[in-house]
Amino acid sequence: STTELPSTQKVVLFEENSDSLDVIKFTDFDTPKITSSNDVIIKNKFAGVNFIDSYFRKGVYPSQKPFIFGREAVGVVAAIGDKVTKFSVGDKVAYLSGSTFAQYTNLTDSYVQILKLDPSTSDESLKFYAASLLQGLTALTFIHEAYNVQKDDYVLVWAAAGGVGNILTQLISKRGAHVIAIASTEEKLALAKNNGAEYLVNHLTDDIVEKVKDITNGKGVNASFDSVGKDSAEISLASLARKGTFVSYGNSSGVVPPLSINRLSPKNLTVLRPQLMGYITTSEEWEHYVRLLFKLIDSGDLKIDLLKTYPLSEYKQATSDLEGRKTTGKLVLEVPQ
Ligand code: NDP
Repeated sequence: STTELPSTQKVVLFEENSDSLDVIKFTDFDTPKITSSNDVIIKNKFAGVNFIDSYFRKGVYPSQKPFIFGREAVGVVAAIGDKVTKFSVGDKVAYLSGSTFAQYTNLTDSYVQILKLDPSTSDESLKFYAASLLQGLTALTFIHEAYNVQKDDYVLVWAAAGGVGNILTQLISKRGAHVIAIASTEEKLALAKNNGAEYLVNHLTDDIVEKVKDITNGKGVNASFDSVGKDSAEISLASLARKGTFVSYGNSSGVVPPLSINRLSPKNLTVLRPQLMGYITTSEEWEHYVRLLFKLIDSGDLKIDLLKTYPLSEYKQATSDLEGRKTTGKLVLEVPQ
């Protein structure tokens, strides 16, 4: 069965690239329709805010316009094609995909990065799923596969109070490694300390390379998880120990300039520029990491720090706060029903 969907819906989109927030529009848009027998249309309830949407808007990453923002959401299956057997109308789901800052999002029944939730899942828990999936899986896959963090390692975590940084700090500390947290304010550093960080470094006022030398007896760190990019890449490279790993995974300050591979020789360094989707491509990988993530959350080993919920219409304010470095933890949008 399929419920009747309205012909238009509210979405948040942009039509031309800009550094300015003014191109962000909360507007009416056609509702997706079932056009193939494998389609699944989800009515969204909460959607997580992520830094990546700023890259699409600014043109750092390519995009098709009009571009509906959003990379993750939770909601309820609202319509299905006539060959769909995996989902029924009314199923509660959490998923990663584009175009989630919308009342409705179109997927198919072969889509991998979707999770069916228990029918009794409360709205409060749904919000929590929207807050934990993308950033939680990023941190979790990266500490296993980009650099498999070992007990007693020294690890630099940039933007340690941010969405991904918050989770990295907890998971890396829980592994028995020493986290050197980097953030721009004392409040953010206090939060990182609360999450297990052993050493605190202020991005704006401290000499990070010198501090790392002091902390590690001149050796340097085993790995740097660096989401800041342009302003931090050289500091990450200089802070690494012999055989250290530079995990460059974001561009919050701008894109990392080209790096000559010859720069890696003096310390036998490893450099990676991973993206989450490359670690959760198959359903086996997806299910493995999703299960692991929720086990960590259920056991209390990982806390998701949901800072604020904005209405969908206020994405502009949410990303203004995020890009303006005013936030810690996770921001979520509530979609009008
Ligand atoms: P955050 O909550 O971490 O917000 C960004 C933080 O970056 C700010 O709070 C700020 O912390 C820091 N920052 C440093 N320099 C700047 C700057 N010039 N402008 C703005 N912020 C700056 O966001 P997310 O958790 O959503 O994402 C973190 C990063 O991880 C992003 O770069 C994102 O693109 C990347 N990412 C990559 C993925 C991948 O697959 N490769 C997946 C998910 C996220 P402070 O003030 O303390 O410096």
